[in-house]
Formats: sequence, C-alpha cells, structure tokens
Amino acid sequence: MTSPIRAACVIGWPVEHSRSPLIHNYWLEKYGIAGTYRREAVPPAEFTAFIRSLAARGYVGANVTLPHKEAALALSQPDDRARAVGAANTLWLDAGVLHATNSDVEGFLDNLDACVPHWDRSTGKAVVLGAGGAARAVIYGLIGRGVEPIVLVNRTPGRAEVLRQKFGARVQIVHWEALNATLADATLLVNTTTLGMQGQPELPVDLARLPGDAVVADLVYVPARTPLIASANARALRTADGLGMLLHQAVRGFALWFDKKPAVTPELRSLLEADLAPAPRNPAE
Ligand code: NAP
Repeated sequence: MTSPIRAACVIGWPVEHSRSPLIHNYWLEKYGIAGTYRREAVPPAEFTAFIRSLAARGYVGANVTLPHKEAALALSQPDDRARAVGAANTLWLDAGVLHATNSDVEGFLDNLDACVPHWDRSTGKAVVLGAGGAARAVIYGLIGRGVEPIVLVNRTPGRAEVLRQKFGARVQIVHWEALNATLADATLLVNTTTLGMQGQPELPVDLARLPGDAVVADLVYVPARTPLIASANARALRTADGLGMLLHQAVRGFALWFDKKPAVTPELRSLLEADLAPAPRNPAE
C-alpha cells in the first residue's frame, strides 16, 4: 500500500540556504494537504543514483538547485523551457517517467504580470543585464511574449555572444561599459547578474537615464529589497522584485506534486522577508 503522505524535496549541494522548504511547507499547511517537503544534501557524485531512486525514496518529485540543474536536464524528459534554458529546476514523476521543466521562466513572467499588469502591451526595447542561467530563462520568457529587441549587456562579452547565437537576431549585444547609454529608450530593465546581492557590489546603473514609464525587474532576492529596486521605487518606476519571482516560480512544482495550484499571498511574502532579514546583532557583542 502506498503512503497517503506525498513527499517532495529540494536537492542541492549545499542546500541549507534553500528557502523552498519554507514556501512549500507553508502551502501544505495552508491547504491542509498531507504532504511533506524536505531538504536533501546530495554531492555531485551521488546525484545520478539519487535521482534514479527518487520513487524508491518516496518522492513524487523535486526541486533541483546548484550544482545539479544541468545534470537534472540530462537525466529527465525535459520540456521546451528546460531545454531552451539548458537547465531543469523542477522534476516530477508521471507513470514512472521523470519529467522536468525550468520554472524560472514562468516565475519571472508571472511575477511581472502580478506586479505590473499588462506590462507587455507597451514593451519595446528590453535591456537584460547578465548572461548566466537566469538570463536564459528571462530571454526565453521575453521572446515568448513578443518583446523585441532584447539588448543583452554582460561583463564577459563571450557569454553574451553564446546567448545571441542561441536566441537569434532579437537579441542584440551592448558592451558592459555602454550600459547606461543604452537605457534612454528602454521600456524594461532586468537585472539577472549577482550584483546587488548581499556581499556583492551594487550595479553600476544610473536609473535617471531610464524613461519615467519604464519597468525595472531584479532577480536578486537577498536582500529582499535590493539597491536597484530601492532606487527604482525612489524614482517612482514600476518594479518587480526577485522575491516575488522566487515565490511565483515555486507554484508549478507544488501544483504538480500536490494537485493544488497555490496562491502567492502577502502573508507568504512576509514570512520569506522575515526569514531573509539579517539576524539582529547581539547587544553583548
Ligand atoms: P550565473 O549563471 O553565475 O551568472 C551570473 C551573472 O552575473 C553573469 O552574467 C556574470 O557575468 C554576472 N556577474 C557576476 N559578478 C559580476 C560583476 N562583478 N560585475 C558584472 N557582472 C557580474 O548566475 P545565475 O544562475 O544566472 O543567477 C544570477 C542571479 O539571479 C543570482 O543572484 C540568483 O540568485 C538570481 N536568481 C533569482 C531567481 C529568483 O527566483 N528570484 C531565480 C534564478 C536566479 P560574467 O558572465 O561576466 O561572469
């Protein structure tokens, strides 16, 4: 007899930093679902064996985080999104077959839709900063919404060139040094670099160069309110932040594993914000 308790997990190495258990266990409790969501610390050398024994371990699916996202793609039946991004972060078993997607694409788009309804009705030129894994998901999503041109700005030109070749003529490359000069006619600015993250320098972006009706999106979510989002808010620009994307990208996995499409609520967001807030200093220190 199979257990009525459905289980999913996040697999990473390391995995302690993952906020996914907080999100999924919140939803399990909120919807009264008999399920569980755990962390699984799995080193690269053991990843294949772990994935092949997912069902035997009682899991109906999993999230995959660094450094396993490319390996997960190779071990599963990926959908078009995961293939285009070149990495899988959400896995689920269906009739014994392991399927995969990359939920960053819908996380990015659903968050933008929620924060700036109909943003894509008037979007012309989009500027995307960064050319890593997250940039691939963003570019794939923007192309799907008909955004053109997509100006890609990355510190290392060769990485931007790889994405231009992958996604085609809609993607144009601008050098990192010319970042601010390309903002004057942009309607959407998306940061997919790690700049602005806790412990990292801020982005060298002058938001005064952007038109007043532009939208600014940041994928960084530690801190929850990044310097880029704070500057954009100060200029009264419309924004979509990385924490919102993190919450929206989790929806698909939960729906697949636990048969319930969960809502991204202000209460859940507050829970994550509190978890991401720096710990108060001990006055005795
Ligand atoms: P990645 O593949 O390592 O790419 C990092 C990017 O940042 C590269 O384009 C890199 O440029 C750039 N970069 C790093 N240091 C820089 C510096 N000092 N100056 C200029 N550029 C610099 O990382 P990723 O997986 O794409 O993730 C990027 C960010 O997105 C991370 O903060 C991650 O947490 C966030 N993210 C958030 C979500 C969400 O749900 N909110 C989802 C996915 C990712 P080079 O190519 O020149 O090295």
